[in-house]
Amino acid sequence: MTLPQNPTRTTRDYQALDAAHHIHAFVDQKALNAEGPRVMVRGEGLHLWDNEGKRYLDGMSGLWCTNLGYGRKDLAAAATRQLERLPYYNMFFHTTHPAVVELSELLFSLLPSHYSHAIYTNSGSEANEVLIRTVRRYWQILGKPQKKVMIGRWNGYHGSTLGSTALGGMGFMHEMGGMLPDFAHIGEPYWYVQGGELTEEEFGLKAARELEAKILELGADNVAAFVAEPFQGAGGMIFPPASYWAEIQRICRQYDVLLCADEVIGGFGRTGEWFAHQHFGFQPDTLTIAKGLTSGYIPMGGLVLSKRMAEVLVEQGGVFAHGLTYSGHPVAAAVAIANIKALRDEGVVSQVKNDSGPYLQQCLRQVFEGHPLVGEIQGTGLVAALQLCEDKPSRKRFANETDITWRCRTIGFEEGLIIRATGGRMIMAPALVATRGDIEELVSKTKLALDRTAQELGRL
Ligand code: PMP
Repeated sequence: MTLPQNPTRTTRDYQALDAAHHIHAFVDQKALNAEGPRVMVRGEGLHLWDNEGKRYLDGMSGLWCTNLGYGRKDLAAAATRQLERLPYYNMFFHTTHPAVVELSELLFSLLPSHYSHAIYTNSGSEANEVLIRTVRRYWQILGKPQKKVMIGRWNGYHGSTLGSTALGGMGFMHEMGGMLPDFAHIGEPYWYVQGGELTEEEFGLKAARELEAKILELGADNVAAFVAEPFQGAGGMIFPPASYWAEIQRICRQYDVLLCADEVIGGFGRTGEWFAHQHFGFQPDTLTIAKGLTSGYIPMGGLVLSKRMAEVLVEQGGVFAHGLTYSGHPVAAAVAIANIKALRDEGVVSQVKNDSGPYLQQCLRQVFEGHPLVGEIQGTGLVAALQLCEDKPSRKRFANETDITWRCRTIGFEEGLIIRATGGRMIMAPALVATRGDIEELVSKTKLALDRTAQELGRL
């Protein structure tokens, strides 16, 4: 039980005020206002409490960002210390400050040695905006200004701002506000749905070679970069076949196209490696980071550049015409430092690799392999997806799969569990500090939600 933050206000009070003044993310606001949002008031570890005192296991670590879980006093203390010492200064007037310098030192001590510089932002979307301009600047400096098309993937997600939406492949987002010129998309490596009769290996190569075809169609001299998430997050936690990334890398190198990994979800330990591209074994030229950089305690993102790119920008580029008021914000940097040190020094990332990650994956496979609704289980470390299907041998999906996964998600909430529904998949990404007990709670509540869904469908 927890007390409401403000005992003079009831949940209904909060809901009414929220409905009066607040537009939420990715929702029909009118429908939400009629229903009333949950009002979360407290978090501890993997658990959240709403204003009614109901407890939830957060199987999504917020928006796959609270890598250290809720309630970390050390992160709060790091923010407080920095707020008291130097709450703000900018990067504009030939100035820096210890927090951002030390954050970079720490970050590059973890990253492979072919990365050397970062540009800090406040979010993943902004980091991808910066990516678009920085990549184009890079080719301009090298005397190839026509090399500016950015290739993303259908059903990829890179943010909600104009450029990051164009880079992403969410058609319904493109419809709101329009597309931009010089963006192109290729298909996603979603074998379960699109693989047909091909083996996963064959389909991985086929999906990667769509990039080659697109580069040849556009002309390699016009293509600046290929941008993708190592595994798709918002698109449904889709893990590409093992053959995919090596072939993508081969193509990018062959046609002199930059390979840019969006590590906003995959970064900072999610797969058991510090960065997801390390799990898949490829070497991107840039990394977009956010979320786990501060465990979501304070907004911060960034764009990490390879030495090769940074050298061009720094040594040959002259004035870099970009800057954000809050780039490298000292309080965000101080929290990021405390967060990364905790992930490293408490062995959190290695625990995901060696213990909690394999345990989650094993439990999911044990519990759901024979489940009447589940056709495939994908994942590694502390990220996983359950693909629902109507008929397993043919991989036939339910015609109304989004209604079914949405219903499962709602039942989850009733049972005190937060997992996400994306297309025909139930997806989860708990905080990296999950204990075996937390994982057992996550898996058993997910089973409860899926069993109840199957019962309603007459399949159990
Ligand atoms: N890239 C990826 C892969 C993401 O998942 C997200 C957010 N879910 C973003 C970028 C955008 O980050 P933000 O919401 O911080 O702008």
